[in-house]
Amino acid sequence: MSAIPDLEALHALGPAQQPTYPDAGAVDAAVARLRTMPPLVFAGECDELKEKIAAVTRGEAFLLQGGDCAETLAGVTADNVRNKLRVLLQMAVVLTYAASVPVVKVGRLAGQYAKPRSSDLETRDGVTLPAYRGDAVNGFDFTAESRVPDPQRLVDVYNASAATLNLVRAFVTGGYADLRQVHTWNTDFVRSSPVGQQYEAMANEIERALTFMQAIGADPDEFHRVDFHSSHEALVLEYEHAMTRIDSRTEQPYDVSGHFMWIGERTRQLDNAHVELLSHIRNPIGVKLGPTTTPDDALALAAKLNPENEPGRLTFITRFGAGKIRDGLPHLVEKVQAAGVQVAWVCDPMHGNTFEASSGYKTRRFDDVIEEVQGFFDVHRALGTWPGGIHVELTGDDVTECVGGGEDLTDLDLAHRYESVCDPRLNRVQSLELAFLVAEMLRK
Ligand code: PEP
Ligand code: MN
Repeated sequence: MSAIPDLEALHALGPAQQPTYPDAGAVDAAVARLRTMPPLVFAGECDELKEKIAAVTRGEAFLLQGGDCAETLAGVTADNVRNKLRVLLQMAVVLTYAASVPVVKVGRLAGQYAKPRSSDLETRDGVTLPAYRGDAVNGFDFTAESRVPDPQRLVDVYNASAATLNLVRAFVTGGYADLRQVHTWNTDFVRSSPVGQQYEAMANEIERALTFMQAIGADPDEFHRVDFHSSHEALVLEYEHAMTRIDSRTEQPYDVSGHFMWIGERTRQLDNAHVELLSHIRNPIGVKLGPTTTPDDALALAAKLNPENEPGRLTFITRFGAGKIRDGLPHLVEKVQAAGVQVAWVCDPMHGNTFEASSGYKTRRFDDVIEEVQGFFDVHRALGTWPGGIHVELTGDDVTECVGGGEDLTDLDLAHRYESVCDPRLNRVQSLELAFLVAEMLRK
């Protein structure tokens, strides 16, 4: 493998979506600091995740990837992290039961702090300022001062990610992820909320399966702890480059800022710096593919990012939109499949379904999210390929950011609790509903 390009070489490729830092010296200092920081994850853990995603590629596992569109530094609280983890664990139990295969659990967390934007500028009430690019880059407050990119934020993001990951690791190994307990949260949801009631039959089936296991005295370690992995979009080159290290065991480069990194829809050009950098690391990686992706684009990305065609290395995360997936996805999957490319297919039913509500909030319809996942399942089933997973923006809190769902949130509700600093997330109830609905699709 050729050497990892240095930062200057990456910048020479004209990367999209990068901060314009006013002070080069401060950038060098932040990068130098980051290079001295310990890894957030081990290379061996990344390899384990790669093995699990290889099972997804073979149709023997299902991927659940979810979390905030954009984490915030202020959002690193025990409650916030716990609620997000809890809803993901609840969803995973339902999906595991329905799929009858392992569910690979990956959070969009502990590093999901940098955002690509469709416009460099934002105008409010006649005032134009640089767009917010995530807490890794600048501040959300709409003031000139806060919108200046500050490289010290990269170090802050590292520390916030370390704190998040530390808590997640303690939760998932320290009894919080106990299967019985997670199932009890699901039965509470099913019994106590009107929305949950329609899923009672499946919750009862899971209850019987667990009671049976208990009756025969089965109590494996897996009932008490789970594997959970971190992921984020690899966007700010300074951060990802500084966190790329040579693993002493294998002598291979890994980006140790998280287990799984993906390349966004706006930065996936073949000759771009992001594709170049990620082609050199050994982590499992993903690429978002929107509706304009041609089969040749996908094949070229696979050739560049996974030249050895190693299963588990590459995930294609399609985000077409509910109205486009049924027409657009088949030829992409067909050509990739015909070329013998090993890839896990995952559905992001969020990013092709964003629109502005009459109230001015950016939102998504729950029904569009479900319709895109259904389209994804139908396309893969028709082609004989495996619908390998879902990638969703969600939170464990009762926010009001997406409309619809069993609680029937309307445009007017959005103002009550709209907390996302970027895209609208499914709230706790909508996330659980999604899990039960996808479970029904998996069983058919
Ligand atoms: C995201 O995942 O938040 C995102 C920006 O997605 P995409 O690159 O698919 O637009
Ligand atoms: Mn988003």
